[in-house]
Amino acid sequence: MAITGLEIFKLLPKTNCKKCGMPTCLAFAMQLAQKRAKLEDCPCVSEEAKQTLAAAAAPPIRLVKFGIAETQVQIGQETVLFRHDEKFHNPTVLAVTVSDKLTGDALNRRIEAVKSLQFDRVGIHVCVKAAAIVNESGSASSFAAAAESVKKAGGLALILVSDSPDAVKAALGKTADAVPLIGSATKETAEAMAKIAKENKCPLMAKAESVEALAELSEKIKACGVDDIVLNLDGPNLKDLLCGLSQIRVLSLKKVFRPLGYPTISFSTKGDANRQAVQAASLICKYSSVIVLDNTEPYVFLPLLTAVMNIFTDPQKPVQVEPKVYMVGEPNENSPLLFTTNFSLTYYTVESDVEASRVPSYILVVDTEGTSVLTAYSGDKLNEKTVADALTKHNMTSLVKHRKLIIPGYVAVMSGKLEDATNWEIMVGPRESSMLPKYLQEVWK
Ligand code: SF4
Repeated sequence: MAITGLEIFKLLPKTNCKKCGMPTCLAFAMQLAQKRAKLEDCPCVSEEAKQTLAAAAAPPIRLVKFGIAETQVQIGQETVLFRHDEKFHNPTVLAVTVSDKLTGDALNRRIEAVKSLQFDRVGIHVCVKAAAIVNESGSASSFAAAAESVKKAGGLALILVSDSPDAVKAALGKTADAVPLIGSATKETAEAMAKIAKENKCPLMAKAESVEALAELSEKIKACGVDDIVLNLDGPNLKDLLCGLSQIRVLSLKKVFRPLGYPTISFSTKGDANRQAVQAASLICKYSSVIVLDNTEPYVFLPLLTAVMNIFTDPQKPVQVEPKVYMVGEPNENSPLLFTTNFSLTYYTVESDVEASRVPSYILVVDTEGTSVLTAYSGDKLNEKTVADALTKHNMTSLVKHRKLIIPGYVAVMSGKLEDATNWEIMVGPRESSMLPKYLQEVWK
């Protein structure tokens, strides 16, 4: 919940000294509330007010990162209960267990199986991003060895799962530079785990069986100097877990209840792969930031990653493909050249129909900010200039020796101006993409 201008005003000196460049403290407060000014612009504000304002301005759910470089993931920082209210910010991270009972080839096979859970869907790469190394052996040295193997294999963020501070400490001895998410801290181990997390600058999981106990535990951990906390509501059945996670989300957003203002982690590791999939699907909807599963079945992960992708898509931003030249088949300098827009649905429909024609072709995708052909044309995002610029930018004259451009039938009206702007021969294609196979086979002989 954002702090209002009047709330900020109450914390300012109210001297109207104008040193901030504003005529009054109230004007400055209003600018600050709208993020058009910075608190540092007022040299007279007290330290106490600074701290109060910084705390009030912090996001209701903390952003937590773990992993490094290309394996780094970020969770939390959500601001709404429902996607249509704004958007969800950080997609649920799916993780898979790696038991520290595994060694040698079995351990390597498991790691490779986790890393292979990657898919391309509507031009977007989706994958399992983390491995949860589980201290099933009860041995600190086995835990450390398994964690080190996962780190060495690369490509995955690490989650170190053990209730033993000694085991976590041993594993961090080999992996602290990979900034794993560690834990879990319980009521009994909070101080010891917090000390380890603080020393190694790693985020810490807090585990408790009720929302109230989690709130108490997170305050205890924070008092030990750990800011990056991930809540693990442990124990309840799926129905109670979903209720608890929803309660955490509501209290952190609507009441700005700081002890629950953290991302969450859930373990969907019981039962067979099908049961885990069903549980994880529910937990993606409400409101798990990380979900750990105990299987490596691609048929489980593709739909789950698809669900994550769909739920975390920004509803105000159309799904887009990169504006560039795409090749269908193996086109050459005599192959047809068509253009379309970078709205994903439009592009993939056209691509699949061109593929069905079996005529190798180039498709030039024009940047229309993710809008479809007619929407882009009526909004002037698709005109003779944008198409001419795309032809030049992608150096189409070096790819084809003919100078013929097939345009969507819906924008036949722009053919005259486009011909003048490009000096290319404009061929009006069919209005419906589904007619492209017949059109290409008949016209491009
Ligand atoms: Fe008020 Fe601070 Fe601006 Fe002076 S510098 S007018 S005290 S906000």
